[in-house]
Amino acid sequence: MEENPKKIFYMLIPVIVLCLLVYSKHKKPQILVESGNIIVMNTIAKITAVAKDEKTARAAIDAATKEVKRLEGLMNRYDPNSQLSLVNRQADKEPVKIDKDLFEVFQRAIYYSKLTDGAFDITVAPLIDLFRACAEANTPPTAQQLAEVKEKIGCEKILLDANDFSIRLAAGGMKLDLGAIAKGYAADKAVAIMKNHGATGGLVNLGGQIGSFGTTETKGKWMLGVQDPANPQGDKIITAFALNDSAIATSGNYHRFYTIAGKQYSHIFNPATETSADALSSVTIFAETGTAADALATAVSVMGAEKGLELIKKLKNTEAIIIVAETGQTIKTDGIQKFLAK
Ligand code: AMP
Ligand code: MG
Repeated sequence: MEENPKKIFYMLIPVIVLCLLVYSKHKKPQILVESGNIIVMNTIAKITAVAKDEKTARAAIDAATKEVKRLEGLMNRYDPNSQLSLVNRQADKEPVKIDKDLFEVFQRAIYYSKLTDGAFDITVAPLIDLFRACAEANTPPTAQQLAEVKEKIGCEKILLDANDFSIRLAAGGMKLDLGAIAKGYAADKAVAIMKNHGATGGLVNLGGQIGSFGTTETKGKWMLGVQDPANPQGDKIITAFALNDSAIATSGNYHRFYTIAGKQYSHIFNPATETSADALSSVTIFAETGTAADALATAVSVMGAEKGLELIKKLKNTEAIIIVAETGQTIKTDGIQKFLAK
C-alpha cells in the first residue's frame, strides 16, 4: 500500500517544529559572567564562566570557587590545619593517610621531578625555610646548614602507598611545599567542575596560573597578556595571547624574593646546587593542563634557558617563552605562534 505524500508531510510537521526549536535554542546567545576578585591560595583569583544563562554561569563559578578553596585547605603548608601541614609534622615518623587529591598532586609532583631530572622538587621546603630564616637574620646560610638540609631533599624519599592513600617521608625533618604546582592543579579541577555545571566556556586565573576551555560568549578565544618583568608594578603587557582549551603558567623572580646582606635571591631554588634560580626573570609555559604548565614553569626556571628549552621542545603540545635575566632577551619556542593574538 502506497502512503499518501500529503499525509507523510503532515506527520513530519511535529518533527520539523522540534528541529527548529532545538536549532533556535543552540543559537541563543551565551552569557559571560565574571567572579570579581577572590582571595585564595595566597593570590587574587578571577573565574569567568560562559553559559546559556546567568544562573548556570554563576553556579559554575560558585562550584569552582568552592573547589579551589577546598584544595587550598588541603595544600597550604602555612595553614597548621591543612593536610599538608599534618604530613609535614608526622609523615617522617609514620605513614599519614591523605585525601585522594593530595595523593594525586604528590604523584604528579614526583612525575615532574623525574621528568626534569630533579629540577622540580616539592621536597625543597627545608631549603626555603632556611633562606627565609637567613633573610630574617640577614646572614647567608652556612655550609653546615646547607649540608643538613641536603639530607632532607629528594623526591625519591617520598614513599606513596596507593593501597590506602598514605604517604611516608624517608628522612627525618623532611617537609613538602606545593607552591609550584597547587595552583595549576586547582585550575584544572576548577575547569572540570565548571564543565560539569554546564558552562560552555571558562577561564580560571589563579594569580597568573590560568586554565581555559571553550570560547568566550562571542565565540572568540580567551585573550591574555604577559606582564613586563622589568616593570612589575606597571600594566605594560609584553605579549598578548589567544587561547582555548589550554593552560598557561608564569614563574618569575620579580614577585617574590629573599634579601640577605643586600643580595636578592629568587623564591625558586635549585635543589641540586641549593642556590636560588636567578638566571631567568620570567618563564611562561603553555600546556594542555594547568598542572603541567605550573610544574614546568618552575622547573624551567631552575633548568635555565638551554636545558629548559631542550626539554620543552621534546614535550607534546607544550610551548615556552622565557626572558633571560642578564640580557633581557626573550626566547620563544616555534610552536608559540599558534597562541599569539592576531
Ligand atoms: P611558582 O611560582 O609556580 O614557580 O612556584 C614557586 C614556589 O614553589 C616557591 O615559592 C616555593 O614555594 C616552591 N619552590 C621553590 N623552588 C622549587 C623547586 N625547585 N621545585 C618545586 N617547588 C619549588
Ligand atoms: Mg609553578
